[in-house]
Amino acid sequence: MQRIVVLAGGIGGARFLRGLKSAAPDADVTVIGNTGDDIHLFGLKVCPDLDTVMYTLGGGIHEGQGWGRSGETFTVKEELAAYGVGPEWFGLGDRDFATHIVRTRMLGAGYPLSAVTEALCDRWKPGVRLLPMTDDRVETHVAVDTPEGERRAVHFQEYWVRLRASVDAHAIVPVGADQATPAPGVLEAIAEADVVLFPPSNPVVSIGTILAVPGIREALAEAGVPVVGLSPLVGGAPVRGMADKVLAAIGVEATAAAVARHYGSGLLDGWLVDTVDEAAVAEVEAAGIRCRAVPLLMKDTEATARMAAEALTLAAEVAA
Ligand code: GDP
Ligand code: CA
Repeated sequence: MQRIVVLAGGIGGARFLRGLKSAAPDADVTVIGNTGDDIHLFGLKVCPDLDTVMYTLGGGIHEGQGWGRSGETFTVKEELAAYGVGPEWFGLGDRDFATHIVRTRMLGAGYPLSAVTEALCDRWKPGVRLLPMTDDRVETHVAVDTPEGERRAVHFQEYWVRLRASVDAHAIVPVGADQATPAPGVLEAIAEADVVLFPPSNPVVSIGTILAVPGIREALAEAGVPVVGLSPLVGGAPVRGMADKVLAAIGVEATAAAVARHYGSGLLDGWLVDTVDEAAVAEVEAAGIRCRAVPLLMKDTEATARMAAEALTLAAEVAA
C-alpha cells in the first residue's frame, strides 16, 4: 500500500485531499495539519485548519464557503453579541461551537491535541490519519503598523479575518514553534512515507509554519522520500485568499516559480505549476526542481483528482 504524507493548511489542503483520496483510494494517507492558526475564543480552543480538513473529508463542511459547518446557524454568536461579548469578526456557528467545546473539555482533562483530534475524527471518519503538526502551543503572529503608526503584533486570525490582510505584513512569526516538538506519529509517518505532497496550501502561514517545527524539515530531508508540491499561485496571484501579502512579508514574489525557489531543491524534488505558468517550468528546473505545467484549478473533485494523480506521477518520476 502506498503511504502518502500531506502537509496541509485549511481550504487548499482540504480540497486537495478530497481529490487525492479519489485518485488514490487505496493509499494510506497521513495529514500533518497546521496549528499555527489556532486561537482561543470565548475560552474555547479553535483549530481552524484541522477542522477544515476534518469537516471537508468527513462531509460536514459548508461547501460554498470552504470552512465551517454546513447547515450552520449563529444563535450563540448573536446571543454573545447581545451581551457585548466578541470578537464579532470571527464566525463561529452553533454546530462548530460543539466541536470546540468537546476539544476544550478534553484538553482540560489532560489529553494532548493529537489525541483530541483523533477523538473528533472518530465521529467524522475523514479517511485519513489527521495529525496536528505539534501538541505544543504555536500561534502565528503578524507584525503590522497601526493607523497611529505604531508597529504591533496581531494574531494571524486578526490579520486575516478582521483586517482581511488589507495592511502590509512586516513579519510573520510562528510564536512558540522553536520550542515545539512534532506530535506523536509525525516523524514516524515521514520516515515511512513513499511520497510527501505539499498541496496548494499557503507556503508561509500553512506549510511554512509546519516546517518551522524543529525536526520536520530535517525528517523530510533525511527520509530520502520524494517531496512534490502544487503551486497555490496561478498566473502570479493566489487562486483564493491573500497569500501574496504574507509572501511579501518574507520577501518572496507571488509567483509559482518564486515559491518553488523559496522551498528550494533541498526540500522539494518536484513542483507542479498551472498551464498558464508554463513559462515558469524552465526557471524551476534550473533551480534543481523537476517541474511540469498541468491544470491546477480545483474546480471539482474530478479536476482535483487529476492534479493529485499528476503529483503522484511526478513523485514516481523523481524517485526513479
Ligand atoms: P487556508 O488555511 O484555508 O488558507 O488554506 P490553505 O493554506 O490550505 O490554502 C490556501 C491556498 O490555497 C491559497 O494560497 C490559494 O491560492 C490556494 N488555492 C485555493 N484554491 C486553489 C485551486 O483551485 N488551485 C490552486 N492551485 N490553489 C488554490
Ligand atoms: Ca489556515
